[in-house]
Amino acid sequence: MLRTCHWPFTSNPITNPSQAILSCFVSCANAAHIETLSNSAAGGIIHRTLTSWFGVETPAPKAVHVTRWAQDELSRGSYSHMVTGISDVAHREEFQKPVLNRFGGLLRFAGEHTSRSHFATVHGALLSGWREADDILGKMGGEM
Ligand SMILES: Cc1cc2nc3c(=O)[nH]c(=O)nc-3n(C[C@H](O)[C@H](O)[C@H](O)COP(=O)(O)OP(=O)(O)OC[C@H]3O[C@@H](n4cnc5c(N)ncnc54)[C@H](O)[C@@H]3O)c2cc1C
Repeated sequence: MLRTCHWPFTSNPITNPSQAILSCFVSCANAAHIETLSNSAAGGIIHRTLTSWFGVETPAPKAVHVTRWAQDELSRGSYSHMVTGISDVAHREEFQKPVLNRFGGLLRFAGEHTSRSHFATVHGALLSGWREADDILGKMGGEM
């Protein structure tokens, strides 16, 4: 049984009825859980969910593929998400705050998760890098 978070959000990017592909975005703890399942077990959850939604048994998927970004050593996950009812944009700002060590050195943070308005996107990650670089140069008296 999967609970909380954004499970499941679905879309259908291909409209050819003979080759319909249903994609589901799974976030939060559900994503970590789904990654531990076989493709067919994950497909079973989707099938039961759709059947529950429609009130009649939907056709079973012919094939299922689960991406496992958290298990990919070059990714270690996909992107951050806000937990409905708990998270706030203030959390994104909190992630931006640098950490000062006892020698006065600053550790700064960029990445999509620190972006107030463009989290979970490539441009959010890029802009956050520029934000930090601008701030460093500003403090050094430099210009961009
Ligand atoms: C399937 C998919 C589709 C997407 N489609 C789009 C799209 O269409 N448009 C769009 O704008 N965005 C899209 N995104 C989101 C976008 O890819 C990310 O928001 C963006 O890559 C975030 O960049 P980042 O530099 O903040 O983090 P990342 O690119 O995630 O980089 C983080 C790095 O930190 C490393 N890391 C993690 N943990 C550790 C650790 N403990 N120690 C050392 N290193 C670690 C990771 O290996 C990774 O290299 C998509 C993402 C996915 C997964």
